[in-house]
Amino acid sequence: MGVILWLTAPSLAGLESTGWPVSSHWPRDVVTRIIDGDTIEVARLGKIRYIGVNTPELSHPKRGMEPLAAEACEINKRLVLGKTVALECDVQLRDRYGRRLAYIYVGTVFINAYLVETGYAQVITVPPNVKYTDLSLKLQRKAVQNRTGLWSENPPLLPKSGAFVSSIKSYILHKPDCPWAQAIIPSHRIWFKTMDDATNAGYRPCKVCNP
Ligand SMILES: [Zn+2]
Repeated sequence: MGVILWLTAPSLAGLESTGWPVSSHWPRDVVTRIIDGDTIEVARLGKIRYIGVNTPELSHPKRGMEPLAAEACEINKRLVLGKTVALECDVQLRDRYGRRLAYIYVGTVFINAYLVETGYAQVITVPPNVKYTDLSLKLQRKAVQNRTGLWSENPPLLPKSGAFVSSIKSYILHKPDCPWAQAIIPSHRIWFKTMDDATNAGYRPCKVCNP
């Protein structure tokens, strides 16, 4: 997979291509409405949920508007609203809520990956729809290391404590009392509440503390 270098500004002019062909067989449709950072409506097919990414929610049932939700929505709007997008599917056409799933392209720009790389979306891994998980995790690692968007140093959305901890530099997951965990400088710590959250984000267990 080629290296993907994209500007952080949401202007398509500066974005490089995916490095793989956008197939002429994928359906094209015009984006008529932005629902949030990872959900849109297109003219013929209706509501589309982006595969493999999760942006902060505009109205979370418990937390209300999550930090960066408005920004993620705005970025998505600037990227795709009114544009003709190509829709690539994975193994399942719809998720368990019945929403249609797709990878979205404007020209050759891969929108799902762009949102991850700029730190406006977190990777979510929902088998069997994992075609671009490796690529997305690679881009997310870059966003984490750069403390971009959701991963910024004082992230209001990320937990400040939890059952598991890692470093923005390592991608190794520890129990908080592991000597390796205690050696991580505080500003580099990333906390996870559950093992699922951590493994979905691509973190691997430490062989010393074996979380
Ligand atoms: Zn450890």
